[in-house]
Amino acid sequence: MSVPAQVVILAFNASNQLAVRAAGTRLGLAFVGADEAMATARLESCFKEHTPAAEYFTCTAGALSYRVFFTQVAGEPSDNEVRFHCLEQLDRQKAAQAGSLAAVLAGLEPHLIEIPYLHLGENDYIYKFRVERDRNRGIYQQDDAARALYQSQLCEAIKRLSRTHERTAGKPAMLDFGAVRYVIPSHFGFCLGVKNAIERAYETLAENPGRRVFMLSELIHNPFVNEDLLQRGLRYLQSDKGVGFTDEGLVAAPGATPRLLWDTLTGEDVVIIPAFGATDEDKKRLVRKGLKVAQYDATCMLVEKVWKAARSYGRAGYTVIIHGKSEHEETKATFSNSRRHAPSLIIRHLDEARLLGDYISAPDEAKRAAILEHFAGLCTPGFDPAHHLERIAVVNQTTLLMNETAAIIDYFKEIYTARYGAEVAEERVGGAGRKDTLCYATQVNQDALQRALGLPLDAAFIIGGKNSSNTYQLYRLCEQTLGKRAFFIQSEKSILGADRIMHYVFPSAGRGSAGHTEMLPLWPDCSAPKTVLITGGASCPDGLVQQVVSRINALFPAERLRKIEDVLAGLRNEP
Ligand code: SF4
Repeated sequence: MSVPAQVVILAFNASNQLAVRAAGTRLGLAFVGADEAMATARLESCFKEHTPAAEYFTCTAGALSYRVFFTQVAGEPSDNEVRFHCLEQLDRQKAAQAGSLAAVLAGLEPHLIEIPYLHLGENDYIYKFRVERDRNRGIYQQDDAARALYQSQLCEAIKRLSRTHERTAGKPAMLDFGAVRYVIPSHFGFCLGVKNAIERAYETLAENPGRRVFMLSELIHNPFVNEDLLQRGLRYLQSDKGVGFTDEGLVAAPGATPRLLWDTLTGEDVVIIPAFGATDEDKKRLVRKGLKVAQYDATCMLVEKVWKAARSYGRAGYTVIIHGKSEHEETKATFSNSRRHAPSLIIRHLDEARLLGDYISAPDEAKRAAILEHFAGLCTPGFDPAHHLERIAVVNQTTLLMNETAAIIDYFKEIYTARYGAEVAEERVGGAGRKDTLCYATQVNQDALQRALGLPLDAAFIIGGKNSSNTYQLYRLCEQTLGKRAFFIQSEKSILGADRIMHYVFPSAGRGSAGHTEMLPLWPDCSAPKTVLITGGASCPDGLVQQVVSRINALFPAERLRKIEDVLAGLRNEP
């Protein structure tokens, strides 16, 4: 007769440390019972508060089998024999572990990513945007450096205009300095996800004096914001490409094996997860080290919304096609998340969708091999076009152009319709009615820019970090209308003179291509009045917009310029 399985409840604290029972030098499971009720009673005699225990896996040790449940507990254990240990520490104490504890720990790896979020329900978000009244605007004016970076009289006035004139809220604003007029789209700059992440980063630094505070990689794609945080004591664990930094904050030289900051982390440290989210692999490392992951996870809820969409497609049996840039942190995090729930594959643009479409339309071995070669490293292990293109659903990196994702979805609908008929196609292309998973801020900034581009313009400046995808999309819209008169710049320092603008050429041509800077002229002379559009990506602080306005003003004789007070007084929406 088989012995019924024992129930084990693994109790983790908010630092992802496991409650373990120590009897002498021996470490064992803390809460075991013949059934769930008995194990729960033992748990509750030790911890007053815990989340509902949920079952994750089974394992065996000797002749006994175990059903393993997870819970998150609050407070310290009331039983003296029970202590919290981080998982990395337990790895070093294998010899002291009872067989049952060792067997349970051996089965943990696939479930580590769930541990920080045991307190959240299926539909909860890790971090919800703060409502306006809870926002911490104080951090933007804590000193002169913060005020210069984040504050702008001009931008404030433009945003106030949008808020107070509902009927004209989408119209661009006109700043008329006389010799030069600026067209500013009604929406530009910081999105809510970025504001929330920035406020949390400054607050975390202020709340943890004496502790090391790290950001997994750059908080947002803006060098000036990242630099300001570094000045205030924040450190980065790795580059935006996921390469670990050394103790000195540098990328290790090829072939060298220095101690990385990752290796020095302890449970006393704080690591903030940026707005793009993080890969499962990085989060699991933090879990193993016993750090508070959920508390400092600033993943934007709109990025998490994409993850939730991928999860629900996976559960419904779809392969998830991620439209995004494989080198971008957000797409890496989305892929890492999606692969847990579904076969997944990253495509960059419509041409790559066509590679899949050709196979779906008329499958053959040569096309199958070509897909596997082209998407090597960009799809889940074991991905096979022969099985995994039966039903697909598209999600996207939040900051791309909506039209391009929509075009990819429409393309797949056509392909499946031609192959299987309209009715079947409807069912085989998941989420086709929803079109995409773009974020509202990206869309609003793009729409506002389109409207502003309808005006006569001499030039456009788009301000953002070199690795900012959403800024690049804004630049592309401007380039379509203005060609070489559109400039992608990082700050006013990119404007060297009317004949020399340091325009950044985004690495868009294909995977692995590098970006570079090109020197372009603005206009031959400043004698005739000019009209210039200025906008900023979702990670561009207002202070930079104002500094760019000041820099362009400086190209004109002062006597031909109106005072800023007069411009503000005459600020209006463009009819
Ligand atoms: S651009 Fe959108 S998805 Fe990205 S942080 Fe901002 S609100 Fe979130």
